[in-house]
Amino acid sequence: MSDNSTPNSKIQSIAVLCSGGDSPGMNAAIRSVVRTAIGEGLKVYGIERGFAGLLEGSFIEMDVSSVGNILQKGGTILRTSRCPDFHEPEYRKQAASILKRKKVQGLVVIGGDGSFNGAHAFHEEHGIPVAGIPGTIDNDISGSDYTLGFDTAVRTAVEAVDKIRDTAHSHARSFIVEVMGRRSPAIALHVGVCCGAENIVMPNKDMNLEEIASDIKRGEKRGKDSSIIIVAEGEVPGLSYQIQKQLKSKHEIDAHVCILGHIQRGGSPSPTDRFIASRMGFLAVQALKEGQQKIATTYNQGQVHVSPLQDCLKKKKEYLPQYIEIVKALSI
Ligand code: ADP
Repeated sequence: MSDNSTPNSKIQSIAVLCSGGDSPGMNAAIRSVVRTAIGEGLKVYGIERGFAGLLEGSFIEMDVSSVGNILQKGGTILRTSRCPDFHEPEYRKQAASILKRKKVQGLVVIGGDGSFNGAHAFHEEHGIPVAGIPGTIDNDISGSDYTLGFDTAVRTAVEAVDKIRDTAHSHARSFIVEVMGRRSPAIALHVGVCCGAENIVMPNKDMNLEEIASDIKRGEKRGKDSSIIIVAEGEVPGLSYQIQKQLKSKHEIDAHVCILGHIQRGGSPSPTDRFIASRMGFLAVQALKEGQQKIATTYNQGQVHVSPLQDCLKKKKEYLPQYIEIVKALSI
């Protein structure tokens, strides 16, 4: 627990919103927040469309049935958005007066590091207690080993690559499969290991085309029917097509491209996502009830914890090159 709690907090009403990219497990977290809050005797509002809905006063008073039958559903019933206005202090001031008028004394923000930065700035300026629940398929928030949606996104991508492998094998083809993770290679690294890829191309790292070509050719030489190269999408789309073009022109390798795209964001959350989301929602409300001021729920060493929000404001830096080493060692 962080030590910034206010003893004898008389919190009576909280609100919850989702912000930034959606991820499977957000609904499970909303359900947990709402039901825990109601169980604690608190009034709880759902705010639609993230900080944008907060600024528009888009509040729904939630009851136990508002979150019925959502645990297993992807997306977010509250919907989400990116809200450029929230970067500006004047709009955060407006948001604070809207919450104060509604007598909301604590805000749960489910989202990524951007949303956490918004929540942090909001608390620093207006003193309204905030609790972040990490929800992003990218698993890239510092201070937590896990973010909601990652397990489901990896599972979805692995299922898709398995299907691609079937056709790649039948036709003896090479495939370049692009997975999500604009600024984070976590999905690509996990999918590469789980799908027996020949190599993984990371975003914003120097790509070694010679090495990719020789990985594919080595497989062909020892009679492999198919090769899969996993590419983590970069800031600029189309990297897979560049690789395809260069493999053809420089190495006479015909490879097909498949970009998995947004299917990785949707779908029913895995048991892991539901389990961690339920625990995080519960702890977030408990922390606000106890008078904590700016916390995030985190998952470390197999347990859900309450951590200072400031520990979770950055993107994770680790690139785990050992996963590429494993992929290469196992695909010989
Ligand atoms: P994510 O939360 O998934 O990382 P974004 O980075 O797009 O997604 O952030 C979501 C929203 O959070 C932004 O549209 C904005 O409203 C708010 N936000 C992000 N960064 C800040 C910041 N530094 N200050 C205030 N609000 C921010």
